[in-house]
Amino acid sequence: MPKTKVDFDCGKCPGYCCSYPRIVVTKTDLQRLAKHFGLSLDQVKSRYTRTYRFESDKAEDRVKERILKHKKDHIYESTCGFFDQDLRRCTVYAARPNVCRDFPDGKKCGYYSFLKFERKHQGDPDFIPSA
Ligand code: SF4
Ligand code: SF4
Repeated sequence: MPKTKVDFDCGKCPGYCCSYPRIVVTKTDLQRLAKHFGLSLDQVKSRYTRTYRFESDKAEDRVKERILKHKKDHIYESTCGFFDQDLRRCTVYAARPNVCRDFPDGKKCGYYSFLKFERKHQGDPDFIPSA
């Protein structure tokens, strides 16, 4: 099957998507991480995740979910705990959650298009705009 050509380059991006605070993990994600680390599900849950209550005006949208823990970052406010903040990449790439595998949904990444535009505009290939 031919590879789909994408219009973004994660290697030139400081990992904006990994700064998203609400990376939801499913049971399948937890099992994959548990296998990756050789840990039990409960160990993975307590070390790397926490519960989060999503609030909304609409009762049907309110959910309690499990998300990845974050840590403070020097570029964004915080990033996922699995993100290497010096190398700006995922440390569990092969075992990353499905939501990370599915992002971005399509050939373009909105943040990368913004980054590319700002870098060209500033004449600085390393410029990092605030999102
Ligand atoms: S924000 Fe887009 S370009 Fe940056 S790391 Fe994520 S997917 Fe890649
Ligand atoms: S698991 Fe990896 S790809 Fe997903 S948010 Fe964390 S560092 Fe980013």
